Amino acid sequence: MSDHDLPLDFGDPAGLEALRAELRAWLADHPLPERRAGEAPAEFLHRWHRLLHSGGWVGLDVPEEYGGRGLTALHQVTVSDELGACRAPGVPRIGYLAHALLEFASQGQRTRLLPRMLAGDDVWCQGFSEPGAGSDLAGMSTHARRSEDDGHYIVNGQKLWTSYAQYSDYCLLLARTEREAPAHASITAFALPVDRAGVTVRPLKAANGDDEFCELFLDDVRIEASERIGAEGDGWRLAMTTVNYERNALDTGHLSKYGLLLEHLRQELRGCRTELPDGIVSAVGQCVVDYQVLVAHARRRTAERLAGQTAGPESSVDKLLMTRAEQRLYETALRVLPDELVRDGGTVYGEYLYSRAASVYGGTSQIQRNIIAKRLLRLPSASRTS
Ligand SMILES: Cc1cc2nc3c(=O)[nH]c(=O)nc-3n(C[C@H](O)[C@H](O)[C@H](O)COP(=O)(O)OP(=O)(O)OC[C@H]3O[C@@H](n4cnc5c(N)ncnc54)[C@H](O)[C@@H]3O)c2cc1C
Repeated sequence: MSDHDLPLDFGDPAGLEALRAELRAWLADHPLPERRAGEAPAEFLHRWHRLLHSGGWVGLDVPEEYGGRGLTALHQVTVSDELGACRAPGVPRIGYLAHALLEFASQGQRTRLLPRMLAGDDVWCQGFSEPGAGSDLAGMSTHARRSEDDGHYIVNGQKLWTSYAQYSDYCLLLARTEREAPAHASITAFALPVDRAGVTVRPLKAANGDDEFCELFLDDVRIEASERIGAEGDGWRLAMTTVNYERNALDTGHLSKYGLLLEHLRQELRGCRTELPDGIVSAVGQCVVDYQVLVAHARRRTAERLAGQTAGPESSVDKLLMTRAEQRLYETALRVLPDELVRDGGTVYGEYLYSRAASVYGGTSQIQRNIIAKRLLRLPSASRTS
């Protein structure tokens, strides 16, 4: 596969080739930025996000009235794919939050929040998980009590693993507004300004050295009723919409990135002058199979989105296929690529470490299998069969 043999080739149903050419021309005039000395990864990605937005390359499938380009999901996927193929630093990971706002926020909130989110003027984080509520998100204990007088909320609780909260302006926060009611009716979403009195952000260091994770403490935080997203009790549906968009391989440029890494492995093996390590050829073969399955699946899912299907429980299949392809690929890369890339501190080693998290973020692989069993196959739950 060459750099130009992109995995998601849909022909040219809606000017996609012109869009790719437009992006390539823009990239030729705007060389990929380098990370500056002392610049945190999140700050670097934010700078890149703003540069992309200045060229019109963020939010292609978001309506123009909310700051996007009013094109289709396929245009967004094509841009992400092309960016991955040119080894861009990353595709801004905001599509899933934008979709949640598009579906649940009021017209006024969409107009106020979305253009700034797309432009990178406001950075957003996702405040869902808690120390006792990750897979069992419904068990969250962060609580929003509504005041009797003007209807504002007072929020208390703790969030955990909130990615890049320390760089964020807003948190899409979930809190329980009814203590006793079942989860699907008692959780409410808010757009919380992170600098609000009573919010404390404490960053945690991850194994790859990044400062992605944060704890978020909420002590008597006042949130206005106008900052609620959707109706009271809509939070569970909003959360499921968000994670369903998050669990896909399409908007992230990952497919091109995997394709390029596979090609790198192939070239390394072909140029190898010593005896190949045991089992390495079949390991790479398996990576090719994983990759091809993922690409075929992604093509089908893109076609479904074009036909107007919104993200649902099928995205658990996307997430599992993506996790398997990514983890096997990086495990194999560690055995094949030169030391300077895969030793501690090497770029591929850093990516390998992050690939380990793929089976956890956005919901663990076990949870994806549970969703497939229950929601797609409609199997009875384990407790009913035991
Ligand atoms: C890189 C990264 C970024 C993240 N970013 C964010 C973020 O920005 N915002 C946010 O809110 N969260 C974020 N998370 C948190 C993530 O959503 C949770 O880690 C994930 O949902 C798992 O929850 P947990 O860590 O509490 O594990 P637990 O839920 O405690 O699970 C522990 C283990 O038990 C298994 N398990 C639990 N329940 C079941 C079950 N019913 N059946 C079978 N197995 C089960 C799990 O699969 C897992 O192996 C991030 C996580 C990572 C790794």
